[in-house]
Amino acid sequence: MTVSLVKYDGSLDSIRSAIDLCRGFEKLGRSHSVLVKPNNCFRHNTMPPYGMVTTTAIVEGVVQLLLEHGCRDISIGEGSIINIFDELDPYTRRGFRGTGVDRVARKYGIRLVDFNQGPFREVDLGGIRVRVAREALKTDFLINLPVLKTHFQTKVSLGFKNLKGCLSPDSKKRFHTSKRLDRLISLLNENIRSDLVLIDGIYMLEKGPETLAGTAYRKNLMIAGTDVLECDVVGATILGVDPAEIDYLTDFAGRHNLSLDVSGIETVGESLESLREELEWRFEPDKELLGPTKITGLSAPHPGQTLCSACGATLALALSMLGKDNPETDFGGAELYYGLALRAEALRKEGAGSLPARIFLYGDCAIRNNKSLLKTVSEAAPRDPGDSGAPRTATVVSIRGCPPTLTRTLLLLMKSLLGRPGMARMLFIRTLKLIGIKLRLYREVFPGWERYRSEGFDMSHFR
Ligand code: SF4
Repeated sequence: MTVSLVKYDGSLDSIRSAIDLCRGFEKLGRSHSVLVKPNNCFRHNTMPPYGMVTTTAIVEGVVQLLLEHGCRDISIGEGSIINIFDELDPYTRRGFRGTGVDRVARKYGIRLVDFNQGPFREVDLGGIRVRVAREALKTDFLINLPVLKTHFQTKVSLGFKNLKGCLSPDSKKRFHTSKRLDRLISLLNENIRSDLVLIDGIYMLEKGPETLAGTAYRKNLMIAGTDVLECDVVGATILGVDPAEIDYLTDFAGRHNLSLDVSGIETVGESLESLREELEWRFEPDKELLGPTKITGLSAPHPGQTLCSACGATLALALSMLGKDNPETDFGGAELYYGLALRAEALRKEGAGSLPARIFLYGDCAIRNNKSLLKTVSEAAPRDPGDSGAPRTATVVSIRGCPPTLTRTLLLLMKSLLGRPGMARMLFIRTLKLIGIKLRLYREVFPGWERYRSEGFDMSHFR
């Protein structure tokens, strides 16, 4: 098959060219039902969307071309990350509204589907039962529209990973807590077939998946093809990540006896060599989120793959706010654990010398998984070395929720780390900002976001 590499020049013709060059609509009949699956995973509209979610320019262009082709049964579906805020408003709808996809739907009479609401069909993925949006399984033709981005847990998030949005909210969590994320992504792509993949590279993202820690760049590229593996191999290569080091790709290729050698893939359009980048996918959450505000004494180690996006997104936002409102503060040695990270285990091995002043267990998983922590803390660290005084203790703060809401996260972090005067001050600042945001008088800007005010970043791609 062929993968097309086409520069996006703002015109519908350039999107048409990306699809035509890979013969993307060859198997699409006019009477087919079509499901367009963008990456619209984050619902809040304060974060710069560049490289994080699919541009509405590409979504709209694809819809126009489908109508031109004669298709009439078109839907756009997504299941956004939920439970970050305390509002009841469905998150996927907010995501569609935040990026302008709802406007496209209204303009062309397209149906919007919130995968989080079901209906679902149960699917067995190597012994793990998950619920998949029925819409994604029964459509005649699925158009997968991921973003050209790296991911701190799976290295890249392209066509394969974008289909994770078709799962029910509980199954999305299961993907992480089962400790088999890569295998499950691979198996999911055997159950949901992408008939056409168009990777939206108008922007690309380093240290993804979001723009609190990540940095977006303008790239003006579209990668299109009818084979999801080929598209992901080409996309990863352009990002500078070796496809052979992406575990869900090696799993899929291995079971289907396919090659991950990019030189074996026929590409048309731009030269692949001229498009190669070297983007970093790794990052330590504390360094990226707290470093710019010179916060010290609070560590949040890399969570591995067991942290869900919902916990990760809420915590990233809370830490960014904490850093912004309390720059250059030393929190005196606190550690944050989340997902299935085992602090109790580490403490048993390391002994008393490594005991921090505070340990935060973030989310129900971390709390459940570290049940023995309180006991371990008192056993492992009875006293400071050489100190015959009072037993040395660490305060363990459990932040409950699956995921915890942003409000609860902020309140507990403030209470434990800032003390009463500091907490009162931050609460006052946050309340003023919240009122300002509601009245549209204030816009939250975190360190690093200034760059998105420059010319290359164009919000009209998301309206
Ligand atoms: S507590 Fe967090 S990491 Fe655990 S399942 Fe819930 S959302 Fe996922």
